[in-house]
Amino acid sequence: MKARTVEFVDVLNPAVGLDCPRCGLWTARFGWFCRNCAYRLWPNAEAAGRAYRTWRLHDSSRMRVHQWDDELPVEETVLVVDFRQRAHELGIHVFPSSHWPIVVCAGLLFAGLAAVPLLPVVRIILAVIGVFLFVLGVGGWMLEDVRLYPAEDEGAHGEAHGVETHRE
Ligand SMILES: [Zn+2]
Repeated sequence: MKARTVEFVDVLNPAVGLDCPRCGLWTARFGWFCRNCAYRLWPNAEAAGRAYRTWRLHDSSRMRVHQWDDELPVEETVLVVDFRQRAHELGIHVFPSSHWPIVVCAGLLFAGLAAVPLLPVVRIILAVIGVFLFVLGVGGWMLEDVRLYPAEDEGAHGEAHGVETHRE
């Protein structure tokens, strides 16, 4: 039985797809039917499956090919980039992840509410709260940054100055 199967499929041919003998369009080689015109490529589903398995077992590099594929699967490589390290190499200062921007946004919210035509006293109070939160948020963010990365900050400044002198 196995010998007969091998007669049916050319295992040395690495092609995953083929041009359909009837419509000429590209289709999966081990699909039972042509996916474009439904031309019967194999006598039955079992023969197609057997041919596919025989062909696939012939070469370990074919293990990831599916029976319905018409081309080799694309190698999926996950690119891992340490952006913090990359930024440091380029002399770009990356802010640490922080909760302070939320405070900045709250300040902007109150400052925005102060623009609504309400009683002048209410508007002044809203504006004061908004400006206070905004300054607090920005200040807190900056201080946290300086506290977490004192050395990097100096290094970044040094590199930045270096670039400036190069341009001059
Ligand atoms: Zn066809």
